[in-house]
Amino acid sequence: MSVLVVGSIALDSIKTPVHDHVDLLGGSASYAAVAASFFAPVRLVGIVGSDFPQEHLGYFQGRGVDLAGLQVAEGRTFRWSGEYHENFASRTTRSTDLGVFERFSPELPGTYRETPFVLLGNIGPGLQSQVLDQMGQREFVVADTMNLWIDIARDELLALLPRIDMLVLNDEEARQLTGEGNLVRAGRALMALGPAFVAVKKGEHGCLLFSKAGDYFTVGAYPLEEVHDPTGAGDSFVGALVGYLAAHAAGGVDFAALRRAVVHGTVVASFNVEAFSFDRLRAIDRAAIDRRYREFSAMSHYERIA
Ligand code: AMP
Repeated sequence: MSVLVVGSIALDSIKTPVHDHVDLLGGSASYAAVAASFFAPVRLVGIVGSDFPQEHLGYFQGRGVDLAGLQVAEGRTFRWSGEYHENFASRTTRSTDLGVFERFSPELPGTYRETPFVLLGNIGPGLQSQVLDQMGQREFVVADTMNLWIDIARDELLALLPRIDMLVLNDEEARQLTGEGNLVRAGRALMALGPAFVAVKKGEHGCLLFSKAGDYFTVGAYPLEEVHDPTGAGDSFVGALVGYLAAHAAGGVDFAALRRAVVHGTVVASFNVEAFSFDRLRAIDRAAIDRRYREFSAMSHYERIA
């Protein structure tokens, strides 16, 4: 089954304690679409400027990503610049240049309107809602968000929550949105606002998954010796998660499938952070993901004591 992905498509400038790169392919939709494409056909909704390199479009097409919903507008592509500090413990945004993103209004081609799996990648919640407004029947809708929208578009975000099946956000955002310091209570508070499932990402400490029915799952991060660029970890995580569901839970998403989807998201995100931009994702395939999944499963397994 197909996945519709909406979000930002960007040119990122990334500074780490050892490297400085300018105008790399980035954006929440780019990472999510490529990650999902390892599992299922992807339909992309987004906007780029007339300066967007053709080679990046070729990369998306080469991954089988449908670009009928991509708008190419006169002007500059969205640019974001971030800096990572010692040990990647924190990141600061250096600049955001909206460019053509400022006048983005998602428009779904007719062929996209019945897409069963929907990933509302990180963009303003008003734009995420506009995508749902244009859709007919759908099977499972996942939304990502960020601290910026909790700050400046809280009401629109709260209006979106009853319309989605699953919310994915990081620990700080979960605390910020609910006012709850404890993540278990924050997860429960978020589900009371709408979605049946919530995943709370904890960066290098893994992820918590909750369901309204009371299920609970926790998984660590895949242990890596070297991280080069954490940009897009969250987006590739959620992209792989939804892609996995589209490929393997088409008959109905249950908690067991979601657990496997969260681990696939964790595995793909672990590849993504091993190199800048898409350098690592360009070099892997589904077989490499499956191998790391098996390895991760073996290292995470422990005996139940009767
Ligand atoms: P992550 O590392 O998962 O938080 O995602 C980083 C990506 O988000 C970068 O590639 C940026 O281009 C993109 N990004 C940063 N700020 C925004 C924003 N305000 N809206 C949409 N995308 C953004």
